[in-house]
Amino acid sequence: MKLDVLQALRNPGTEYAFSAEQELAPQDVGGSEVTFDVVKLTGKLVAGEDGSVTVEGKLSTVAHAQCAKCLAPAISEVEGDFRETFIHGGDPEDDESFAYNGSALELDKLTLFYVMFNLPMRFLCKEDCEGLSMYAGSDVTIGTEEDVTTTLCQDELNVQRPFAALQQLLAEKSDNAEN
Ligand SMILES: [Zn+2]
Repeated sequence: MKLDVLQALRNPGTEYAFSAEQELAPQDVGGSEVTFDVVKLTGKLVAGEDGSVTVEGKLSTVAHAQCAKCLAPAISEVEGDFRETFIHGGDPEDDESFAYNGSALELDKLTLFYVMFNLPMRFLCKEDCEGLSMYAGSDVTIGTEEDVTTTLCQDELNVQRPFAALQQLLAEKSDNAEN
C-alpha cells in the first residue's frame, strides 16, 4: 500500500497520524513457508526540510506456519515498533536504505523487514507440544497402569503420522541447504 505524504511534505516538521494495511507475500523461513494476515501499521509521520519522511509506529499481524515439533498448523502474533526515514529520490530497491519517489511511500519493504525482525525463533502449535519424536519409535508400551495416557498418545500418533514423511523431507531439505 502507498502512503500519501503530500500534506506532510507541504508542512515540514508537522506530525501526521496514519494507519495503513499492507499485504505480505508468503516467506520461506528456514525451509518452511510462513504466511501472514494483512499487516496493520499505525503511527505518525513527519517530513523534513530536505524532503525526507520519517515514519514511526507499531505494526501487527498474525503469522501462520507449522509447529516446529509436530508440523501441525501453528500461529503466532507478531508485533513490533518501527522507525525509518525515507529519503526522497533515492533508490527504493536499495537494501541499505529506505527511499521514495513522488509523494507516496511504499510500505512493503518496511513491513517485510519489521515483520521478519519480530518473527518468533520457532513456531509451536502449543507451548508444551511434545512433538513427534516420542511417538515415532516402537517403544510405546501398552497395558501398563498408564493406560489412559498411552491411549491418548496412540490417538495422537495416528493423527500425526501423516506428517512424519513430510518432516523427514524437511529435515533432508535443511540438511542440503546447509551444505
Ligand atoms: Zn506441535
